[in-house]
Amino acid sequence: MQTENDPNILYGGDYSESNEPLDENRGSLGAVILNDLLLGGDQTLFISGVTDKKWTYNDVRVESMKAARILYGVGLRQNDSIAILSENRIEFPIISFGALYLNAVVAPINVTYTERELTHALNLSRPKIVFTSAFAAKLVTSVCNKLDFVKTIVHLDGNKSEGKIKSMNDFIKNEDKNFNVEANASKKVDIKNQLSFIMMSSGTTGIAKGVQQTQENVLSIIQSYRDMFVLFRMLHDTKSIILNIAPFFHGFGFISMLLISCSREATAVFLPRFEENAFFKAIEKHKVNIITVVPPIMVLLAKSPLVDKYDLSSIKDIGSGAAHLSVEIEEQVMKRFKGQVTIRQGYGMTESVFGTLGGTVLLKPGSVGQPMKGVYAKVIDENGNSLGPNKVGELCFKSTRIMKGYVNDEKATSEIIDKDGWLHTGDLGYYDDDFQFFIVDRLKELIKYKAFQVPPAELEALLLKNPKIKDVGVIGIPDEVAGELPFAFVVKQPGVELTEEEVKDFVAKNASNAKWLRGGVKFIDEIPKNLSGKILRKDLRDLYKNTKSKL
Ligand code: AMP
Repeated sequence: MQTENDPNILYGGDYSESNEPLDENRGSLGAVILNDLLLGGDQTLFISGVTDKKWTYNDVRVESMKAARILYGVGLRQNDSIAILSENRIEFPIISFGALYLNAVVAPINVTYTERELTHALNLSRPKIVFTSAFAAKLVTSVCNKLDFVKTIVHLDGNKSEGKIKSMNDFIKNEDKNFNVEANASKKVDIKNQLSFIMMSSGTTGIAKGVQQTQENVLSIIQSYRDMFVLFRMLHDTKSIILNIAPFFHGFGFISMLLISCSREATAVFLPRFEENAFFKAIEKHKVNIITVVPPIMVLLAKSPLVDKYDLSSIKDIGSGAAHLSVEIEEQVMKRFKGQVTIRQGYGMTESVFGTLGGTVLLKPGSVGQPMKGVYAKVIDENGNSLGPNKVGELCFKSTRIMKGYVNDEKATSEIIDKDGWLHTGDLGYYDDDFQFFIVDRLKELIKYKAFQVPPAELEALLLKNPKIKDVGVIGIPDEVAGELPFAFVVKQPGVELTEEEVKDFVAKNASNAKWLRGGVKFIDEIPKNLSGKILRKDLRDLYKNTKSKL
């Protein structure tokens, strides 16, 4: 684990030799996916948890190759991008994989975004084609009609075509049957620079940015997980049947779906959205043996009476990630499942393409595991010195899975990735004598509501647009179920009438659900700032604690 030159730099080790995904016949990520789908053959890859419909690896291979021929037929080429806004459904992997076979770039976008958020996200990924489900179709259409770079809007559920809008039935008529998908995907690309996905994240500061993930990044994570699927089979003598409730438009859900598709044997059960009964029913019915969840679902597993109404005995492994999980909840879940399950936490960032730390064999309560294969990790102090065991500092990672950078934002990129290639996470933690990591706090500005990112800077910029607001500072306040709730301190313009409800409504109208000010609003006279005008969030947090203790 310790590296030679600096024992404080830990290394997760090399991937096993048997899972090298890029041999000389496979020149791109798309070719690797095609090969893995081929090897999966007639085994079941996807199951809809709602309709119970199944798709084999081979079905997905055939359908995604067809998607590639259609996308090629409408003129999509290498480095062009597409965006997808939808609940979890089979078209998500099929269209995404099809685009990857062309070395095009996929931008999964939050289906609940408001006009302001959607416009920002599309301006970063600049897709030629935007796919939308019925849920977002109206907004997507009105926003995309104003964006010149969007040439086609495909309504996945619609049956009318008009102007830029195409129904799925009309869109598929563009298939270029002469286009050789496999030959195209086999051509060597420069995987270090070839983009595969653009995902949204605010990183350690500021507003949401476009995270550019390369094909090499994604191949690195595929390799780590291949070894995990093999380990699961070895331990339990059965293949993995996984239910991940995270939306495909978030990295946690999207990359997980991709990893399963490249496992050559695992099955992914998916649900369009989280609903308690549907979740437990799908586990029971499809004998799911791995669930990957976010901490609010762990709270549910610990407390919901429904857990006793369903047969959940097939579950062997529970993975939690994307936000902090308390040791108490972890222990309660373990007790509820009578110690018959393994609970592992994973840790990662959109900027590190899914996981960098994960639990493998040694599992300690509260720990997020150790560096995954292919990952270097260190904990640094304020001066950048690497620290030894049991010392708290900022977590930094180096690996082929660290993003290329933010779209058109060299400044923000150089602030988060240093000149030696280390990603500075803005998370505070330590590793113990067994090299197990623990996250203790967040140095950065980010708020996480039910594992969704809520960038305070974005809410502040939004609230400042309200003419009745003179100044504002947003923080996250602790909440057992959601993790954190956004809370705003507001300074009113002199002499205006403004209520807490008005401020909340203003945010609810202009920001997606996760960003609503569920924590509350408090009016104060001045936002504490340092000499350079930076908001002193720690002071705001103290102010919140004092106000609360007086209630
Ligand atoms: P995202 O890019 O949306 O996945 O958010 C990444 C951030 O989520 C990390 O930098 C952490 O602040 C937080 N996070 C992810 N996993 C964990 C975990 N297991 N424990 C605590 N925080 C986590």
